[in-house]
Amino acid sequence: MLAKTTVAVLGATGSIGRATLDVLESLGGPWRAVGLSAHSRLPELVELSQRFSPDWVVAACPESAGRFDFTSLPAGVKRLIGPEGLIALAELPEVDTVVAAVVGSAGLASSLAAARQGKRLALANKEALVVAGSLLTHALKRSGGELLPVDSEHSAIFQALQAGRSREVARVVLTASGGPFRTWTAGQIAKATVDDALAHPTWQMGRKITIDSATMMNKALEVIEARWLFDLPAEKIQVVVHPQSIIHSMVEFVDGSVVAQLSPPDMRLPIQYALTYPDRIPCPCPKMDWTGAMSWDLEPVDIERFPALSLGWEVAERGGSCGAVVNAANEAAVELFLQGEIKFPEIVAGCRRVLEH
Ligand code: NAD
Ligand code: MG
Repeated sequence: MLAKTTVAVLGATGSIGRATLDVLESLGGPWRAVGLSAHSRLPELVELSQRFSPDWVVAACPESAGRFDFTSLPAGVKRLIGPEGLIALAELPEVDTVVAAVVGSAGLASSLAAARQGKRLALANKEALVVAGSLLTHALKRSGGELLPVDSEHSAIFQALQAGRSREVARVVLTASGGPFRTWTAGQIAKATVDDALAHPTWQMGRKITIDSATMMNKALEVIEARWLFDLPAEKIQVVVHPQSIIHSMVEFVDGSVVAQLSPPDMRLPIQYALTYPDRIPCPCPKMDWTGAMSWDLEPVDIERFPALSLGWEVAERGGSCGAVVNAANEAAVELFLQGEIKFPEIVAGCRRVLEH
C-alpha cells in the first residue's frame, strides 16, 4: 500500500493538533501538513503556518477571522473561513489523511465530510462518533474510507485486535487513569474546584477532555466510541482503572488470552500509528525502561463516585439519538462548570436529567 502522506490537521492549535505537527516534523520526507485549522487562536495559526508551510489554513470562527489581520500569513497560503472552510479542507482532493482533532461536536461535520470523501480519518474527536457513530461508520463503508483511532485506548485495542480475528474477541478492556479524583471521597469530589479538576495526573490535554477525565465522562464517551469503532455490544466493553497509564487497553480473546498494548503515556505514538498504519516507523516518544523495578495497579471502577460511567454503557446499548443527547448535555455542562456557573457533581447529574427527559 502506498503511504498516505498529505495531511490536513483540523484543530492544529490544540493539544492533539500540535502533537500531530510534531509527528509530521519527525517523520519528515514526503510527510506534509497540507492544511491547518484553528478556531479563534489565529496568531498561533499564523505562527504554525510560518513553521509548517501549509497550502491552506482555516479560521473556523468567522467573528475572530473578521477581526484578525492576516498580513503575516506567509505568501501563497490560501485562506478559508468558518465551519464551511473546515469541511472544504477535509474534502480537498490533495489531502490523503484528515486528522480530526477539533474538540466536541463542532468536529462532526468535517469528520463526516472526510468520511464521505473516502479519506483516511485519523480520529481524535471522539465526540463525532458519540454523536453520529452510525452516520460516520456508514459513510466510511460507502466511500471506502478508513477510520484509524487516535484515542490512546482505541489505538491500543486496534493494535491488539491484530492478534486474532474479530469473531474470536470475547471482550475489550479500556483502561482509565481514574483522573485527579481517583482517591477522593464523594464528599471531597462534591467540593472540587475548576483548578482541582484541571490537574490531571498523567496526561496534558485540552480543558474539555481534562474535565471529562475528572468526571470520568471521558471513559463513558470512550465506551460509546469503542462500540462504533469495533462494532461491539456494550456488554463486551469493560473498563478498569490503571493509574500509571502504561497499559493503554486490552483485548481478551475467546480462549482467555489477553493482548495489551503498552508504552509511556505520549499521544504522539497513537497519532503516528494512525498516520503510518500499517507501517511502524521509529517514533520520538519515550520508550519503556525495563531495567528498573516498577509496578502497575489495576482497580475496579467505582460507579458510586463516578456515575458518568453508567451513562456510557447505557448509551452504547440504547443507541439512537442518546449519544447526541448526552454529548450535548455534557458539552454545555462542562462549559458552565469552567465558567463557575455550576458545581462539579452537577455536570453528570445534568447529563443524566437531560437523557431521562
Ligand atoms: P484542545 O482544546 O487542546 O484543542 C481543540 C482544537 O479544536 C483547537 O485547535 C481549537 O482551535 C479547535 N476548536 C475548538 N472549538 C472549535 C470549533 N467550534 N470549531 C472548529 N475548531 C474548534 O483539545 P484536545 O485536547 O487537543 O482534544 C481534541 C480532541 O481530541 C477532543 O475530541 C478530545 O476528546 C480528543 N482527544 C484528546 C486527547 C489529548 O491527549 N489531548 C487524547 C485523546 C482524545
Ligand atoms: Mg483516551
